[in-house]
Amino acid sequence: MAKSVLTGDLDHVCLKCLKPRLAQAPRHKTLKSAEDIIVERNAACGAGAYVPFPVSRSVGAAALACDHVLDWANGVNNDRFRSRTVDNAKAYNIADSSPSDRLTVPPAGSLTLEWQPQRYVLIHPHCMQAMSAYTQRQERDREAGGIFLGSYRGAHIEIRAITHPLRQDRRERHLFDRSDPGHQAAAKTAWAKSGETTTFTGEWHTHPENNPFPSSRDLQTWKGLIANTTDPLVFIILGWSSNWYGVGYRRRVYSAKPI
Ligand SMILES: [Zn+2]
Repeated sequence: MAKSVLTGDLDHVCLKCLKPRLAQAPRHKTLKSAEDIIVERNAACGAGAYVPFPVSRSVGAAALACDHVLDWANGVNNDRFRSRTVDNAKAYNIADSSPSDRLTVPPAGSLTLEWQPQRYVLIHPHCMQAMSAYTQRQERDREAGGIFLGSYRGAHIEIRAITHPLRQDRRERHLFDRSDPGHQAAAKTAWAKSGETTTFTGEWHTHPENNPFPSSRDLQTWKGLIANTTDPLVFIILGWSSNWYGVGYRRRVYSAKPI
């Protein structure tokens, strides 16, 4: 696939926005999941490792960039991000567009979780801070919890807000039951306000233990939630020393690793 990005204004993505961190997934997935990039060694000509492709590929990429620049010179500024897929069997087609950079570059201090190869959950730092404030430290502290409000971005999930424990929730030393209708109401409001992009993306709660692990009750609750949606859901349990991270998808709960 050849890609061309026209940059130069603050409202649209630059190359960095398309792949904000080296270790992170790019904004657009290129290769289909079964495919891999083949790097070969060409010891004979001393070039070391290289990716073999026919010359038509580089000519195609140059032509794409050339057309892009010509359009710009003629005052045509639509589709700042363009791509051409030459091998449809191995790579996806990505529609030309002018992606905005808003909310794409993760704020400093964000937590990134990987739950399947190249599938990430991005959690904004203020969400982690807000949840950590409820970690039970004292004998009288009770479990806390809430839901995640975020959006699905391709294969990834971005969590931008949480709800806090509400009055009608059941909070005990070893139990949190999210029974207050306010959580769902918050999700509905976020959905309407965001132009139907921000939605319920999972839930969190605390455990009175150092290194928390989901209880059988947790797993049962989560399975019920997963059964109601075709999208993955994020589950976090906060403990004293560490947190447990997971993603539920298609009847399974996967544990997720911070990266
Ligand atoms: Zn629990």
